[in-house]
Amino acid sequence: MVHNKVTIIGSGPAAHTAAIYLARAEMKPVMYEGMLANGVAAGGQLTTTTDIENFPGFPLGINGSTLMEQMREQSVRFGTEIITETISKVDFSSRPFKLWAEWAEDEEPITTDAVVIATGASAKRLGLPGEEEYWQQGISACAVCDGAVPIFRNKPLAVIGGGDSACEEALFLTKYGSKVYLIVRKDFLRASTIMQKRVENNEKLEILYDTVSLEAKGNGKLLTALSIQNVKTKEVKDLEVSGLFYAIGHTPATQVFAGQVETDETGYIVTKPGTASTSVPGVFAAGDVQDKTYRQAITSAGTGCMAALEAEHFLSSSE
Ligand code: FAD
Ligand code: NAP
Repeated sequence: MVHNKVTIIGSGPAAHTAAIYLARAEMKPVMYEGMLANGVAAGGQLTTTTDIENFPGFPLGINGSTLMEQMREQSVRFGTEIITETISKVDFSSRPFKLWAEWAEDEEPITTDAVVIATGASAKRLGLPGEEEYWQQGISACAVCDGAVPIFRNKPLAVIGGGDSACEEALFLTKYGSKVYLIVRKDFLRASTIMQKRVENNEKLEILYDTVSLEAKGNGKLLTALSIQNVKTKEVKDLEVSGLFYAIGHTPATQVFAGQVETDETGYIVTKPGTASTSVPGVFAAGDVQDKTYRQAITSAGTGCMAALEAEHFLSSSE
């Protein structure tokens, strides 16, 4: 039977930061980094992008995959054991906690005294025709991450969604684009009143209500237009845009933990404010899996540090 003192599930910035802290504290962490878990390669969401320009310490930016390879190297250097498997079943009802890796659900569980959940989240996509072809070639799910790249400068851009994220992203993009369309499927914004006022009052922003998106079109290399339809008039037209940003919500990777730790109505793990503690003592959560507001690499790393320090304290005081 395999027993780990502390197990980290996930492999993004939160997981690796937790691993570095726990390994340096001689807690012998074991990380299950996932094998295309939740449709994302080990290393997490940053492996799906190009340059990261807002992670401190890299004044010239750093490629997302390179940053994650370096974090992994740092985790291993201090003694983290990394296993390339996905955890597909857990039992947190009693200690030691039990975990099962995919393909081994019928076998003896892995047991562990503490767990750091850092399985991240993924941006929802629409699945439009043309979406695959122009993903990261004009289409993105993160304006804060990608909005400043040259292909979007002084060009018309579009954001799909009517929530706070969509408003925030659209406002952010007005700094770069010549014009920003906010494409809302209903005849109202779901966003908070203050956000609604900000988008309504911004001269560079035009809100297209009752509008759904039909197809992403391009020149074979880059996105050039979005085909849209007004659901009331049924009119279909092409909106010339060089950038298309999805802000239709994220899905946290928490299906495996359903019923085992408290989650909110949208599936995010609930942590006690200002901590990484979940509803189960000894189970900690860090990164996007418990954060629907900031969703950045640096905030994930920060909460990974919190989870590690709390797990270390938990393990030391329960010895
Ligand atoms: P994630 O990065 O989501 O990684 C979680 C990992 O856990 C994944 O590899 C997944 O496979 C694995 N996993 C999931 N379930 C399991 C399981 N059951 N068992 C084992 N493993 C599992 N942020 C910035 O700060 N700057 C940027 O420039 C930036 N650019 C971005 C560009 C794009 C295209 C995207 C999508 C995001 C970007 N972000 C950026 C956001 C940033 O990537 C995330 O906030 C950050 O990666 C979240 O880190 P995380 O550690 O919570 O988990
Ligand atoms: P959200 O509130 O769930 O909004 C998602 C938006 O996307 C909704 O307008 C929804 O439309 C739309 N949408 C969903 N699926 C769609 C589809 N298939 N086609 C077209 N549109 C679609 O998500 P969010 O904006 O990411 O916010 C998540 C949470 O974080 C919220 O609690 C929010 O308040 C919070 N947040 C706060 C801030 C802030 O305070 N600064 C910033 C960001 C996020 P419908 O309205 O028609 O359902």
